[in-house]
Amino acid sequence: MKLIVIGIDGADPSYIEKGVREGKLPTFKKLIERGCYGKLKSTMPPLSVPAWQCIYTGKNPGKIGIFNFVELKEDSYEYDLIDWKVKDSIWQILSRRGKKVAIINNYFTYPPDKVNGVMISAIDNIKENCYYPKELEKEIENKLGKLDFGIIPPYYAISKKQLTKLTEEMLNSSVKLIRYILKKEKFDFFITTLDIDRLHHLIDDEKEIKTWYSKIDSLVNEILQCIDEKTNIILLSDHGGGKMKKEFYTNEFLKKEGFLNLKRKYSKKFDSFLIKIGFSMENILKIIQTIKIDRVLMKILPHNVWDIAKEKVPRKDSPFGDAEINWFKTRAFSPYPSIGAVQINLAGREPQGIVNESDYGRVRDEVIAKLKTVTINGQKIKMDVYKREEIYKGPYIEKAPDILFVMDDWQYFPKISFSDKLFKEPRDPGHHRLYGFFLAAGPNIKKCQVENAEVTDIVPTILKIFGMKKEKEMDGKILSIFKKK
Ligand SMILES: [Zn+2]
Repeated sequence: MKLIVIGIDGADPSYIEKGVREGKLPTFKKLIERGCYGKLKSTMPPLSVPAWQCIYTGKNPGKIGIFNFVELKEDSYEYDLIDWKVKDSIWQILSRRGKKVAIINNYFTYPPDKVNGVMISAIDNIKENCYYPKELEKEIENKLGKLDFGIIPPYYAISKKQLTKLTEEMLNSSVKLIRYILKKEKFDFFITTLDIDRLHHLIDDEKEIKTWYSKIDSLVNEILQCIDEKTNIILLSDHGGGKMKKEFYTNEFLKKEGFLNLKRKYSKKFDSFLIKIGFSMENILKIIQTIKIDRVLMKILPHNVWDIAKEKVPRKDSPFGDAEINWFKTRAFSPYPSIGAVQINLAGREPQGIVNESDYGRVRDEVIAKLKTVTINGQKIKMDVYKREEIYKGPYIEKAPDILFVMDDWQYFPKISFSDKLFKEPRDPGHHRLYGFFLAAGPNIKKCQVENAEVTDIVPTILKIFGMKKEKEMDGKILSIFKKK
């Protein structure tokens, strides 16, 4: 085999470096000593979508039209989940050029493509038609038994114990499957994913997270036992993970600064009464956790049960959609959950837009200037604020939020709901970081330090390993990690 790529969703370079120094990650250590290692800059925002899509294509979000898990619905202030599957991914390019490929459980790849080889998209949690070729499903069931990659509901809806159990099962099932495919056939290119992201979101204790990095290290070792010495190895993550300080309520901030207006106070009287007697979404989730919903129950509940519950049960915070915004007096708002983003209420674009085209630039500059003044307890917060054209390029840039901002290197979690405060203690202890890691070793790779690597560089670098040129429309560069011939 020419190349194997193992993605580890959410793996943070600081944990890898610490683990290697402390002798807890022997597989990583060996590979770093043989090859090259460095940080890998994720996308803006550093979410799994669009980071994986950029890794798969070598293009920036402005060229693939994917900026986030969600996008605003046509002529609406509400968002919808997007179709996150990309065309022209690295395996399609290699497959078209006659290379034999295996794509085993990579996120956001459902439905599997008809490739020159095999493709399994079971990790996307859609239960049918996850295998190409189709017969592979029966064969794997016969050989390995029924594999389950687990329904992972929103992290906050299950207990930590439940989440770690599901994650462990998922990782073990994945590695079983990966090893089976690796032993079954010879491939030129193999790509797969493991995951530590969800654990970063939920686990507060650093020692406990470290044990998961050791687990990942031993699983990587199990996978690498199935390949020969002629294989080049790339390990990488789509973004990092780390602790969170506070939640920041973006729309509450825009309201305070006079950019956004509500028709009336958000908190409906009945909701406040229910909350007073303890009937809130947060409390119900707590009760569900204490009675320990087990996996069987998770399966019989309809897929969207959490969404329905979220809509029907009052929360202490008022969701964005319920807030009854007075759009005729609103110049800017934040419709995108979990990222720092602001949209201008532009006339002709938004359903009830009031900002004229000629005022767009001025209003946007005003919002940016105000965002740069955010303080907590009298202390200024480090704010990096960008116009979308400063980050993205390409034909889909119009679909991106007008303004993006980052607070203290991702240590604050932006929320779009309305609250009584600008800042609150975070629900989850962890959130993403901008930098993931990149590691490569093998017959074509020299010993070196990797500098300035970005997610869009992965495809051009993979093509180089196969002696192929990068395509014109790719944004990334070839990383200088190669031995001279
Ligand atoms: Zn991720």
